[in-house]
Amino acid sequence: MSRPRIATVSLAGCFGCHMSLLDIDERLFALAELVEFDRSPLTDLKEVGPCDIGLIEGGLCNAENVEVLRDFRRQCRVLVAVGACAINGGLPAQRNGRDIGRLMAEVYHARPGLAEGSGIPNDPELPLPLARVHPIHEVVHIDHFLPGCPPSADAIWACLTALLDGRDPALPRPLIRYD
Ligand code: SF4
Repeated sequence: MSRPRIATVSLAGCFGCHMSLLDIDERLFALAELVEFDRSPLTDLKEVGPCDIGLIEGGLCNAENVEVLRDFRRQCRVLVAVGACAINGGLPAQRNGRDIGRLMAEVYHARPGLAEGSGIPNDPELPLPLARVHPIHEVVHIDHFLPGCPPSADAIWACLTALLDGRDPALPRPLIRYD
C-alpha cells in the first residue's frame, strides 16, 4: 500500500514555521518511514503533486501567493494552516493599515540614502502586491488551523501524527500558543 504524501509550502512568511517542522529532529526519521514527502524542505520539488496532507505557512501578500495557494488546495486532500501568518496574516499584515502605493514609494523612492534614480521595482516578472495581506482561509477552504508564531515542533508533530492516524488533530491545551 502506498504511503500518505505530505507537502508544505511557504507563502508570505519567514520560513520560521518550516524551521519548527524541521525541529521535530530525530522524529523526522520516523516520519520518513510513515510518509512520502512531496514539495517540502526535505525535497527539491518545485511543483506540488496530489497529496494527502498539505501544510501551509504564510499569508497572501501578492498575486503569486494566491495562485500557489489555489494550486496547493487543488492538490491536497487535507489542508492545515500553520502559524499566525497563514491564520490571520501575522507580521506581514502590519502593513494593512497603510496605503501600499505610498508605502512602496517611501521604501524604494523617497527614503533618504537611496541611490539616485531609485524607484519602485516594475519588472513584469515580479508578482503584483495585493492592497492588503490576507489570511489564507479568505481564499480557500482550510481543514485545520495550527496557531503559534511559530507553532512548536511538538504541536506540529502532534497534529501530523493525529492526521496520519485518522484522528481529530485538536491539540491539548499546553501545545496551543498564540505568540
Ligand atoms: Fe514566521 Fe511566525 Fe509567520 Fe511562522 S507565523 S511564518 S514563524 S512570522
